[in-house]
Amino acid sequence: MSKYDYLIVGSGLFGSIFAHEMSKNGKNCLVIERRSHIGGNVFTEKVENINVHKYGAHIFHTNDKKIWDYIQQFADFNRYTNSPIAIYKDELYNLPFNMNTFHQMWSIKTPEEAKKIIESQKKEIDTETPDNLEEQAIRLVGKDIYEKLVKGYTEKQWGKKCNELPSFIIKRLPVRFTYDNNYFNDLYQGIPIGGYTKIIKKLLKGIEVKIDTNFFEDRKKWENIADKVVYTGMIDQYYEYCFGELEYRSLKFESETKNMENYQGNAVINYTESEIPYTRIIEHKHFEDTASSKTIITKEYPIEWKKGYDAYYPINDEKNMKILEKYQKLGKKEKSTIFGGRLALYKYYDMWEVIKESLDAVKLELDNLKK
Ligand code: FAD
Repeated sequence: MSKYDYLIVGSGLFGSIFAHEMSKNGKNCLVIERRSHIGGNVFTEKVENINVHKYGAHIFHTNDKKIWDYIQQFADFNRYTNSPIAIYKDELYNLPFNMNTFHQMWSIKTPEEAKKIIESQKKEIDTETPDNLEEQAIRLVGKDIYEKLVKGYTEKQWGKKCNELPSFIIKRLPVRFTYDNNYFNDLYQGIPIGGYTKIIKKLLKGIEVKIDTNFFEDRKKWENIADKVVYTGMIDQYYEYCFGELEYRSLKFESETKNMENYQGNAVINYTESEIPYTRIIEHKHFEDTASSKTIITKEYPIEWKKGYDAYYPINDEKNMKILEKYQKLGKKEKSTIFGGRLALYKYYDMWEVIKESLDAVKLELDNLKK
């Protein structure tokens, strides 16, 4: 018999929820985490009394009442509404694309006027089957919005020209003909008061956790320490890249403390022109309306991913999906490893989706144990 029922590799949302639920069901769990802190990408750290989102802006949003109720056991949430601003050269626009944006762009006031302009610009691309992202975007929102608000931002994000990117990246570009700057359509959204790390700490309370511990540095030992492994790291690494590396986009975060109360007046401002190398500036105190005489801002630079860098956005193109399929085939044969979370499944997940995946994995596991 092994010392633990489950070894959980990774203390992000997936791993922490799995560990929490299994411990509640009497199982003995050990969590190992290669970083120097728990929480994965939702980690927040208090600096100058401000909860800093260390891995980029994290806004919780969902339409799933069960998930909303579940997460609120671990924190109270504020009523934060995500309403980002876009800056293009010296022009300022509200996002998502709505009547405020159209007024700022064309000085029009009515939905009818906005629709007319967008429709006439969309006609410039007269194909139902766009060849690339540029054509797709113009087909969806017209030329002006594409050129000022989509093009530069997207090219920075992916490191490629829009006319070289596949059209599937942009399936939809939501356009709203009301004066509504709320970015998300979801029923529930907010920021946990006190930060996300508080949630993770509560989830892992009473569970043994080892930080600065990489599964691959002593793989044999870790595999033998528990009956089962729950693995939330990169799937290609788990199989020693035997079918090749999966590709990602990475990010570089540059933070600075400013000796002023309010730097930009909003939590998130996107910089959509290609000449500015970062995509956005986050001002953390506005997520929770924090009292502090100082403020902390973070510039987010998309960068090329290389082995050893933090992997953020999977590049789910044909080439990578073919490689993934091969790893998934091996994964299905595993009897004592459960794969979960964004890195093991090579999929971009919002937080609510990861929570749901983890709760589903727990349920499946408990059902299997009963058989
Ligand atoms: P992770 O948080 O990545 O956790 C995996 C953990 O495993 C990490 O801590 C890692 O260090 C550890 N690990 C990996 N390999 C090993 C190893 N070999 N040994 C030990 N430990 C290992 N979602 C939203 O809902 N709203 C948002 O606003 C939002 N904003 C985002 C902004 C950015 C910039 C990014 C990148 C993501 C954003 N997300 C957002 C998504 C959110 O971050 C994810 O849904 C969530 O963090 C995924 O949790 P996870 O447990 O799957 O992965």
